[in-house]
Amino acid sequence: MRTPVVAGNWKMNGDTASVDSLIDGILVESAILALQRCSLLVFPSYVHLGQVAAKLKGSAISVGVQDVDQRRTGAVTGGVSVQMVKDLGATHALVGHSERRTLFAEDDDTVARKFEECVTGGVIPIVCVGETLAERKQNKTLEVITRQLRAITDRIESKRFGDAMIAYEPVWAIGTGESATPEQAEAVHFGLRQYMKKFDAQLSESIRILYGGSVTPENAKALFTQKNVDGALVGGASLKAKSFAEICKAGEES
Ligand code: PEP
Repeated sequence: MRTPVVAGNWKMNGDTASVDSLIDGILVESAILALQRCSLLVFPSYVHLGQVAAKLKGSAISVGVQDVDQRRTGAVTGGVSVQMVKDLGATHALVGHSERRTLFAEDDDTVARKFEECVTGGVIPIVCVGETLAERKQNKTLEVITRQLRAITDRIESKRFGDAMIAYEPVWAIGTGESATPEQAEAVHFGLRQYMKKFDAQLSESIRILYGGSVTPENAKALFTQKNVDGALVGGASLKAKSFAEICKAGEES
């Protein structure tokens, strides 16, 4: 019953011209694929959001942002609110990406507040969770990711989740070329779904759990055949229309 989602996180890349040609390429490639099941999302930088949203208008591809402020409005220099991104056409927002947690010292509570601000303001959040290599080596993977998720489930009632998603992104797999194996990903996704089952049994069946961390056209298919892997959050490979489209094709066929 869960349909696949492939999301491209463009991070801090691109300029007006390269973003234009990337989105043109994705539109051409996705038209060729004639997707029926797989939903596509792209996450450009804030400064390219309006440009991308305008180009995607009328297409089946949705646009989101890579982060959002947890506050609503006011004296937050540099802050970007949910209503601002919604106004520019964003339907989704990543919250708690490991680069935000590490480079911007965002803790679990801040991430939960961002998630709440999204559901309150009508933007669909995708919360990213994941362990470091050291934590995995200490067998702490499930402990870490459930702690990250608990901050949200303690704060927000399940009926407010709407179409919110989870992205399991092991920190050691992001941008390293070393993806989790399909079995490693499935084990964690299963654990996440079990955790969600205790929170809300119905939601645990419907919520989509994406895998992220060095997903490529070569490994996407094997990841997507796993029962609890509902798609991917893709960094590097989403910056080329062809490779992104090949991952979308694997999603469509999963
Ligand atoms: C990411 O940053 O969300 C990510 C998964 O990056 P990459 O695919 O490059 O590992």
